[in-house]
Amino acid sequence: MKTGTVDHKRVVFNFSKRLYENFISKREGLRELLKPMNTPLLILDTKGIKERYREAKKHFNEFNIFYAVKANDHPTILKALSEEGAGFEVASSAELEKVFEYCKEPARIISSNPIKPMDFIALSYQKGIDLFAVDSFTEVEKIADLAPRSRIYVRLSVPNEGSDWPLSGKFGVDPETAVEILEYGRSKGLIPYGITFHVGSQCNNLRNWFIAIKLSSEAWNRTRHKGIRLKLLNIGGGIPVTYLYNALSIEDIAYYVKGLLRKYMIEQPAELHMEPGRGLVGDQGVLITRVIGKAVREGTRWIYIDTGVFNGLAESLGGIRYPFYLDRDGELYEWTVGGISCDSMDIIARNVPLPEPEIGDYLYIMSAGAYTTVYASNFNGFPAPQILSL
Ligand SMILES: *Cc1c(COP(=O)(O)O)cnc(C)c1O
Repeated sequence: MKTGTVDHKRVVFNFSKRLYENFISKREGLRELLKPMNTPLLILDTKGIKERYREAKKHFNEFNIFYAVKANDHPTILKALSEEGAGFEVASSAELEKVFEYCKEPARIISSNPIKPMDFIALSYQKGIDLFAVDSFTEVEKIADLAPRSRIYVRLSVPNEGSDWPLSGKFGVDPETAVEILEYGRSKGLIPYGITFHVGSQCNNLRNWFIAIKLSSEAWNRTRHKGIRLKLLNIGGGIPVTYLYNALSIEDIAYYVKGLLRKYMIEQPAELHMEPGRGLVGDQGVLITRVIGKAVREGTRWIYIDTGVFNGLAESLGGIRYPFYLDRDGELYEWTVGGISCDSMDIIARNVPLPEPEIGDYLYIMSAGAYTTVYASNFNGFPAPQILSL
């Protein structure tokens, strides 16, 4: 990555520093909160989350937006998005109960996990929710049994290449099977309603939407030939945020997806849904941690911080590369960042360019709003980050 006289470490550090400065300059009074007594602390900008939602609403104007609650179920986020009129995508009874605190309209709640626990289906039905994703014949039977006469939409399996957090392989079927599942649903008294897919989380590859929409169109047409008129296309999540590279913007994706729909769908779906999680909240949070140790091991510089992969940074194990910032000047070195627990798997990042810290320094982890605190356990007795929501 080193080219000519460009100092790669400086480029990466400055990129992270810019994200940090942009984030803190957005909100009055934020600067005073950046050296908290207790760390780790996740600061969430709910105003920023509302702005991201409005941006999505503006560009995906024909879509109903359902926030994927698993990205971050903090009550202030649910409240802020509910005030904006967003819908919610939930997968468990606990998520459903949480959402219901702020949004009691069943039409604004959907469940796109194609394999759902029975208690959750029953509770959803009881609350008036009647729209469920499926991708197997047994799920159709479960829904027919626990939520009779509901509407179902089938999850297609689509490529997840170029997504930093792929979700393919576990869910989804091909268009042919999708039609069989919808027909089976009809025979069980359910309403075959639509098609869905997920291009993979943190998807920075437009081609995934291209293939997904072509496959959706194929499934749509096949269903039509069987005399079933579908109404809904749900394009799932996948909108990326900026970590160590500039991600596709909501506008880029909207422009492209809307063009694909016009080109490839034989008829425009009566209802269009999307379910962004990361894309609405990911870059609206900064995780404040502190350096608790330093070492040099076999020529590699290490710092250890007071959180780790078991306390909120699980995604660093699977390909998410967070921007790190430390407020000091001076020469940059590459550091391996170790987590707080005794587990040797608890390594957050390698080759992170930072100035030499002192013990107790604050280390800022940018774009930490999604899939962090929701993953955190108390492994080894270390706490999950506290959340401060502005
Ligand atoms: C996780 C998930 C989402 C949200 O994905 P993001 O990549 O965070 O946008 C949307 N739909 C379903 C079914 C999911 O499981």
